[in-house]
Amino acid sequence: MNYDETIRFLKEFTEAKGISGNEKEVSRLMKRYLEGYADSFEYDNLGSLIAKQEGTGNVKVMICGHIDEVGFIVSKIEEDGFLRINPVGGWWAHVLPSQKMSVVTYDGKCYMGVVGSIPPHGMKPEVRNKVMEIKDLYIDLGVASKKEIEELGINIGDSVIPYTEFMVMNNPDYICSKAFDDRIGAAVCVEVMRRLKKEDHPNTLYSVGTVQEEVGLRGARTATYHVKPDVAIAVDVSMSYDVPGGGQGDSKLGAGVALSVMDSSVIAHKGLVKMMVDICKEKNIKFTYDSLVAGGTDSGEINKSYDGVINMTLSLPCRYFHSHNSVVNIKDYEACVNLLVEFIKKLDENKLQELYESKR
Ligand SMILES: [Zn+2]
Repeated sequence: MNYDETIRFLKEFTEAKGISGNEKEVSRLMKRYLEGYADSFEYDNLGSLIAKQEGTGNVKVMICGHIDEVGFIVSKIEEDGFLRINPVGGWWAHVLPSQKMSVVTYDGKCYMGVVGSIPPHGMKPEVRNKVMEIKDLYIDLGVASKKEIEELGINIGDSVIPYTEFMVMNNPDYICSKAFDDRIGAAVCVEVMRRLKKEDHPNTLYSVGTVQEEVGLRGARTATYHVKPDVAIAVDVSMSYDVPGGGQGDSKLGAGVALSVMDSSVIAHKGLVKMMVDICKEKNIKFTYDSLVAGGTDSGEINKSYDGVINMTLSLPCRYFHSHNSVVNIKDYEACVNLLVEFIKKLDENKLQELYESKR
């Protein structure tokens, strides 16, 4: 896809509604963009999409991005028509008051609301200075009673999804939307498979949209058992340190793809990291290293499946994820796509044996 096509794709893909456990709209979209590029489509029983593309050899390579996003479910309907919510995935309540939310019913009806907020007028300092708790937040759908909510067909357990309109920023490489965590990673997996359609590669490629990552890497586990890959790369977002008070690290917007050497759930396969670095240097692909002590990605489940899967995470620097407005740089996306395309072209039986040997 060229720049304009990529932007249209990312707009559609990030605006799609898919909190953990409710990813169907996103998996259908992912499938649509892979139609004609994958040879077949399969699913695990949690709903992860598994697109398969035959190459000229038998090494099974899985690339995956999680298609779920953080949000909420309706936990209680108050008598006066306000909705109480429980978080799905990690939220800091600080980012929530006065934001718009979509509420989607089992039948797919969608209603807009806002998170209630209190005006600061006359607010006591102890209230003003503390972050609200999610249990104290509520969604206002602009109705007068519980009866009206019920007439809309809204029930306990329905999805509450951040509402954001996609935006190209003032430097057109910078784009802003909800759910770049991890639609941008799943988008990489789509684009890699599309590009490899035109080229020979000595592998069987699986491009996977995993579900339920935000609640504990669940789709990664089931999809890995479905595919049984020899090598698996998770693509996800990571910290972008280039903001005021952003902390220490090299991963930042425009610095390229970040090779994640460790997080709290996985230590990257050393041989694989070396192979990625060599490709980046050979092909002039911009990269940094990334290392985190907290947080995890799909790799956390993948690496310890069966008797172990050769695995690492490629990360895309992202600002403000787990909020309504996250920011990524399209150049980093390109770098990640280019690296994976070159990697899959290079991987074959011999390289796989080298990777095994590098641990012995
Ligand atoms: Zn993620």
